[in-house]
Amino acid sequence: MMTARFLLCLCLLAIRVKGTFAAYPSADVLIESSVDSSAFELPTILPPAINDAATDASWKLLAGRTDGNSGSLVVLNDGRIPESADQPRSNWFLAAGTNDGLLLLDLRQSISISQIVSYSWHPGQRAPQLYSVYGATAADGKMEFPESVEQVAITAGWSLIARVDTRKQALAGGQVAARITLTASHAKPYRYLLFVVQNTEPSDRFSHTFYSEIDVISGEESTLQRIKAPPIREQHFATSDELYRFTIDTTQAEELEEWTEGELQPVIREWYPRIVQLLPSKDFKAPQQVRLRYLPDSEMRGVPAYASGTTISLNIEWMRGQLKGEARGAVVHELVHVVQQYSGRRRGRAGSVTPGWLVEGIPDYIRWFLYEPGTGGAKLSAERRQAAQHNASYRVSANFLDYVIRSHPTNPSILEQLNAAAREGRYTSELWQQLTGKTEQELANDWRSAVD
Ligand SMILES: [Zn+2]
Repeated sequence: MMTARFLLCLCLLAIRVKGTFAAYPSADVLIESSVDSSAFELPTILPPAINDAATDASWKLLAGRTDGNSGSLVVLNDGRIPESADQPRSNWFLAAGTNDGLLLLDLRQSISISQIVSYSWHPGQRAPQLYSVYGATAADGKMEFPESVEQVAITAGWSLIARVDTRKQALAGGQVAARITLTASHAKPYRYLLFVVQNTEPSDRFSHTFYSEIDVISGEESTLQRIKAPPIREQHFATSDELYRFTIDTTQAEELEEWTEGELQPVIREWYPRIVQLLPSKDFKAPQQVRLRYLPDSEMRGVPAYASGTTISLNIEWMRGQLKGEARGAVVHELVHVVQQYSGRRRGRAGSVTPGWLVEGIPDYIRWFLYEPGTGGAKLSAERRQAAQHNASYRVSANFLDYVIRSHPTNPSILEQLNAAAREGRYTSELWQQLTGKTEQELANDWRSAVD
């Protein structure tokens, strides 16, 4: 998935909505959106502030249920925004398939509010916002809190400030901000704000807005500190023949820049073309542009590295701990995935599916037996091998592949042919017999009982 900041088209939209309500004059609402910004750089609405009046306020969900994949309510006033367009944990949203929610913000004291600004970010249908916000002063210390959305209108002490609906104006996906400017009729100080948050498309289970931040502004703009997008930092390099080009996005991992340039770039430059040579197939052209990016562990969800299409994502915290250990080898493994391009496997063009153990076994074979044989990382003792399954994936399957390849020196193209069949969606277990004269099971048995 592409992060929004890399999208080429710049698309900004601003619309002012004057609401009219019988009971209370609704405050002025300005809606703006962008698909191209990295930190809510919008035409008029400023990026979130990190020291607004909501910074020390507390949130409470009075009705409704937070989604299991959502961040906690703290993300709404932590002064931080997601790093990319689809980061559930950095946003707050209601549970899929549920109805409305009632969100209470306790400002801890009554303050005069000049603006309330809500920010949301999602690549698709979870970007638009739909809510009403009410205020209460609690001057006498007594306050009634509604327990359901239906009770809001009949609970004493609450007045409607504004209703926000960005669905007509906001683009399909991107960053959306709604700025409520309180007019003289709302000038009384508020201690509590109550947000009645609604799903924007009731027929879609996954239409609850990804709210990134909600600011409450009371002071002068000059006292506010606004979030700034970090400048994008990228390393660009190519193989000496200029055939293959690479970009490494280090924006979030400045501390790894030196290592990346000095230690990782040479490995990629040397090994990507080698992997391409090791895994040819008819009419196949390996990707010529590969992108790598460093992402924080929170976004990687504990995974050290993964490849998706021609993009490799690397876990910053994991890499940092493995600079002298597995970091380079893990990148070699992911480069193999970029070259594999087994999309035919999923399409089942020839009606067969390459098993996952081979999809992972080939990268680990190239990594452990060709790139860094000296580390012995996929070695198995005879005892462990006796108890192992050749299709246990990763290092174990790499060990099996190494055994089959070494024990059949008369066929030097076993790896090449396995890969070509997998890429073209025609891998079947019978292939082992064609390549070696033995069935997959016979090879597995030989491997388990081999003595080396
Ligand atoms: Zn893998």
